[in-house]
Amino acid sequence: MRRPYFFLLLFLLSTACSQRAFKTIEWEASSKQKPPSELSAPHNAIQVSLPASLEVKRWHQKIGGYKVKNLWIQKINKRGKAYYAKGIVLDSLSVSFYTKLFLLKKKEKQILHQLASNGTLLEKSLFIAQKQSHLQPLLSLTYLDPQETKVTEFLVDGHSQIISQKEISNHFIQGIGMAFEDSSLDQPSIVPLKYLKGDGHLHGKFLKVFSATQPIQNPSNIFKYSPEGKESKAFNSVQIYYTLQKFMDWLQQNTNTRLPFLLKVKANLPGSKKFYFRGQIWIADGDGKSYKNIPRDASILCHEAAHAYIDAIAHLPSEGEGGSLNEGFADFLAAAFTNSPYLGNVAYLKAPFKRNIQVPLTVQDMNGHLYHDSLIVSSTLWDIKKQIGTPKAVQLAFQTLAYLGPNGNFKSFIPAIERAMKELTNQNDVKEILRHKGWYEL
Ligand SMILES: [Zn+2]
Repeated sequence: MRRPYFFLLLFLLSTACSQRAFKTIEWEASSKQKPPSELSAPHNAIQVSLPASLEVKRWHQKIGGYKVKNLWIQKINKRGKAYYAKGIVLDSLSVSFYTKLFLLKKKEKQILHQLASNGTLLEKSLFIAQKQSHLQPLLSLTYLDPQETKVTEFLVDGHSQIISQKEISNHFIQGIGMAFEDSSLDQPSIVPLKYLKGDGHLHGKFLKVFSATQPIQNPSNIFKYSPEGKESKAFNSVQIYYTLQKFMDWLQQNTNTRLPFLLKVKANLPGSKKFYFRGQIWIADGDGKSYKNIPRDASILCHEAAHAYIDAIAHLPSEGEGGSLNEGFADFLAAAFTNSPYLGNVAYLKAPFKRNIQVPLTVQDMNGHLYHDSLIVSSTLWDIKKQIGTPKAVQLAFQTLAYLGPNGNFKSFIPAIERAMKELTNQNDVKEILRHKGWYEL
C-alpha cells in the first residue's frame, strides 16, 4: 500500500471508531442471550480438553498482522456446545495508534537484531499499553535464554526502547499431579509437575517417566490417581516424576548442574529391581516381600538418579573400587537430599532401612565388597556435610567426581577431593575428617 492511501485508511478507521477503550466480554449459555459475534474461534485457536467433557479454546485478536497479547478470548465448550466465554477485545483504534504501529513495523528487524543475544525467540506479538487516554502498540518479544533456564519477555516501543523486561516463567508447562510430598506417606497432596512438555504424558524437559504396563496420559496435564487399588501403578509413576524433578532442581540450585541428557525412567516393572544404565532408570513397584512401593521411597529414586549425574560427571565403573565410589557418592547425594542417613527406609520390608551411611567405618575396614566399601565413601561425605553444610558438601562431591574421572579408585580419592577443596576455599576441617577416616594412610 502506498503511503497516501495508508494514511487515508487510517483517517477512515479513526473516524469510524471513536471509542478507544478495551471491552470485556463475558457470556454464558444460561443467560439465554445470543453469543456475541466475537465468539467464533479461528481454526488456529489453542484447544485443551478437560475432564467432564469440557474444552477450552483460546485465541488473541489480531491487529496489523500481529497477534495481540492482551486482547484475548477464552471460550469453554461443554459437550461440543458453547458454554461460557470471557475475553477482552478492542474494536476501535486512533490514527496515532496506527502511526505508532507503522513505526514499530519499520523498526522490527533492527529490534530483533538488537535483542538476538537473549536466546531463542519463542513468541512475537503486539502488546497494547494504555497511556492516559492513548493506546500505544509495543512489540512483545519472549526469549528462552541460551542455557534454557528461564523465559523473559521484553516490551519494546517504536523508538527501539525497552519499556519493560521481566522473567515470565522459570519452567515450561506446569502440570498437576497427586503425590506424597515427604516420606511420612500420610496423605497425598496436589503437587506441581514442573517442566512438562505439555503432550499429555509425564514427558518433561529434563525427565521422562513411562510405564511398563499402561500409558499414563491426560491431555490437560493433570495426573491425579489414587495411591490405592487399580490406580496405584499410575500414582507411582507420577510420584517418580515429582520426586526426581524435585531432586534434579535441588541439585541445580546447589551446584548449578543439569544433566546433559534427558533422564528416562521406566516404571511399574515387576519384582523389586531398580538400576541405572546409560541415561535410563528401571524401577519396579516392589514384590511385596523384600520391597513395597519402591517409587514412594525418595532415597531409592534419588540414589538411582544420582548415578546419572555421577555417570555424566565422572563415568565411574559399576564394579571394583570405582564401583564402590559410584555407590558411595550415589548414597550420599540421595541422603543429602532427604537429609537422612538412612537409605531404603520407606520401601525396604526386611529391616528399618537398607543402608545407614552414618557409620564409623574407616579405610582400614575395606573388604572388597561393593556396598560395604561404598559406606566408607558415603560416611566420609556425610561427616563432611555435617561439618561444612549441605550446599558446600554437594558442590565438593560433584567437583571431586570431576577429578576422579572414569579411572577413579580409593587411592585417587584424596588428590581428587583436595583439588576440589582448593577451589571451594581451603578447608582444614575437611582434612581432619579425611584423616580420621583413614584416607591418608592409603
Ligand atoms: Zn547404586
